[in-house]
This record gives sequence, structure tokens and C-alpha cells, in this order.
Amino acid sequence: MRKAIQFAAIAAFVALTMSCAPKIAITAHRGYWNCEEAGFAENSIKSLELAQKNHLWGSEFDVHMTSDLVLVVHHDRDIQGKSIHTHDYADFKDYRLKNGEKLPTLDEYLTQGEKGGTVLVFELKPQYDKAHEDYMVDKSIEALKRHGLFDPKKVIFISFSMNICERVAALCPGFTNQFLSGNMSPEEILAKNINGIDYHYSVFQKNPTWVKEAHDRKMSVNVWTVDKEEDIKEMIGQDVDCITTNEPMKVRSLLGGKERK
Ligand code: MG
Repeated sequence: MRKAIQFAAIAAFVALTMSCAPKIAITAHRGYWNCEEAGFAENSIKSLELAQKNHLWGSEFDVHMTSDLVLVVHHDRDIQGKSIHTHDYADFKDYRLKNGEKLPTLDEYLTQGEKGGTVLVFELKPQYDKAHEDYMVDKSIEALKRHGLFDPKKVIFISFSMNICERVAALCPGFTNQFLSGNMSPEEILAKNINGIDYHYSVFQKNPTWVKEAHDRKMSVNVWTVDKEEDIKEMIGQDVDCITTNEPMKVRSLLGGKERK
């Protein structure tokens, strides 16, 4: 009888501890999860759809701006040798992603984003001057509003550009806004009114106190791009809030009940 009571007490304690343990979200890097092999392509509308169907917490994508000021979803600055920022959108009309899709405009991508279920992790790529960066932030906000997505539960912002992060901080209060570069401590970032960090895992390996320092300041912590099992386990051990990965199913299996849905 006494043993049964002890067992019940231990079980209750374990259940309580597990319920209080921090959960970790998964974000698909560029909407990507070995998707080229599966017939998908990074930064494609189909890949976002795949993340939504598989109930991933987040799907990350990259936004650039053409010379005629069209926002497009693409990672690199160039497409087939043409710089996006010095070419008009029409110059890319014949370009196809590896899965056959055309270059998505932000509006087309957000039309899929409206279907919901997965947070849009919106990376605003650095532009060539402050005026273009400011304009890109403003147009992004307008597009999100048009699609009913200007909502801190539906979108978070990330950028390597400090200027972009500062403009997002000014115009999007209440939204998660993460700096990507990894060259500043949580304290320095918060001093700029930016409320989150999204750093390469090697940054946290070199600065193992930064996750806690960020959490002590109520800042969010995302980590990119973690694919190897040993690194995934280390980041889970550091209790980051979100893991950005090309291997979401691997991270899902390693997280088990610790996955934030
Ligand atoms: Mg990106």
C-alpha cells in the first residue's frame, strides 16, 4: 500500500514537471524539408502547403524586392545571374523553381499563408540602402494586412539587417522580431528594442549563457539551421524556443512530447 502511494506521488510529480517543461517549436527552413527529393522546392508555395498539412509550428521564407518594387519570395540576391534588385519582376517571368512553380510574389505566397495552421516566419532580406529597406518593411506590412495576416499569432519577423529589425520594432509592436546575425548579445539587442534573437547554432555553442540571458529578459530565441542529431539534441538541451531546420521530421521525433504545436 505504502509503495502504491509512493508510486502515485512520483507519477504525479513527473506529470507536473513535464507539464511545466518548456516546449520547443519547429520551423521549416525556407519551407524546406528534403523537399527537392520529394518534388518540392525551397521557398515555394507547395512547400508552405506541406508544412501546413503536417502541422509544423512554423515555416520560414525569404523576401526580396525587384527594381519595380515587387516583393518576391526567394533566397538568393540573384536569379540565373540577374540581380533581383536591378531587374523588374517581368524579367523573371520565364524562371521556374525546381518544382515548376513560377517565382512567387509575396501576395501569392500569403494567399497560401491565409490557409493557416502554420506561423509564417517572415525573413526580410537586407536591401542596398535604408530607403529600400524601409519601403520593403512598409509594403510587407500592407500585404500582411491585405491577407488578414498582420497578427502576432500568425507571423513573426526575422532579419539580418539591423535597420529592418528597428523599423519592424517601431511599426509592429507586439510581434516577435528576431535579429539573425549572431554578432550581438541579448542585452545589446534588447537595448535596440528588438525582442528576439534567431542565431546559428554555433553562436549558442560559443555563448552557452545567451539563451538564458535572453529568456531572463523575456526575449524569444530561435536557432538556425539545425539538421544533425547531435546539434539538435544540444539545442533541445539549451531550451531554445524554436528550432529552424531542413529536417523537421527528425527534430519532431527527437522532441517527442516536448514539441510545441
Ligand atoms: Mg531565410
